[in-house]
Amino acid sequence: MNETLAVLGAGTMGAGIAHVAALAGFEVKLFDVSEAARAAGVARIAAGLDGGVARKKLTAEVAAAALARVAPADDLAGAVAGAAAVIEAVFEDLALKQKLFAAIEEAAPADALLATNTSSLSVGAIAGAARRPERVVGMHFFNPVHLMKLVEIVRHPTTDEAVVARARALAERLGKEPIVVRDAPGFASSRLGVLVGLEAIRMVEQGVASAEDIDKAMKLGYGHPMGPLELGDLVGLDVRLAIAEYLERELGPAFRPPELLRRKVAEGKLGKKTGEGFYVWK
Ligand code: NAD
Repeated sequence: MNETLAVLGAGTMGAGIAHVAALAGFEVKLFDVSEAARAAGVARIAAGLDGGVARKKLTAEVAAAALARVAPADDLAGAVAGAAAVIEAVFEDLALKQKLFAAIEEAAPADALLATNTSSLSVGAIAGAARRPERVVGMHFFNPVHLMKLVEIVRHPTTDEAVVARARALAERLGKEPIVVRDAPGFASSRLGVLVGLEAIRMVEQGVASAEDIDKAMKLGYGHPMGPLELGDLVGLDVRLAIAEYLERELGPAFRPPELLRRKVAEGKLGKKTGEGFYVWK
């Protein structure tokens, strides 16, 4: 594999993927339609690498060399030309991603690995916009990318097995643990994680225990690093609600959002980002 990787979208996930790719030795082209997002993405990578130096995980030289391998790009075709792999991390919008994959296919080398970091959309539907959908695979990273070890490799019905193998190898090269999942709603991670999160909210609603104690049950009883209610507050309760509504439509009533979740969202209590959700955040 040549050593150039294009990342499309320089937001939370794009910057995170670019960070780990640069540390793994790739020359990274980081494309975003927004100039401000490109600059913020590079600044976030620099801050993340500095954090690694401060925690003594990286030397200053390694961090500086990684940052020097990240080149912001203001042109899609230029970013993907010559790339061994393209990872898309733009807004979660099917029509936008479909348009992008049609354009990527025109400009990227014919043998480049084409991956989407969608967290909930059908990878098959995104791939359907490409002339050769068998080239497209899901690579679902987790936030914060430099800390979270999992990558879900999402195989849609016509994904080429060789493409799945390359995505798996790329994830490992980026220091991640890949799992391979069929293109089913919620993949493996969200489907289980959201179900637990919704049930925890129903338990608060029914007065089974306090949010703190339900979280403590999962942390101390099951070894989870974080409780489901705390996690919901970090992800954002509006994001949780949207995913639950989608999974209810696709998978049935087990994913029906509890009233308490709807109320919190209606009241603007979205979790950490607004200062309050199931917890008060300072
Ligand atoms: P974000 O809003 O932080 O960043 C998205 C970026 O895409 C923005 O900077 C925007 O300017 C850019 N963009 C929009 N249209 C574009 C285009 N046509 N070409 C290039 N750039 C474009 O979003 P995010 O949280 O980083 O999420 C990105 C993707 O990753 C989504 O599909 C999301 O579902 C998925 N994801 C998010 C998380 C998470 O925790 N945030 C986790 C896993 C997967």
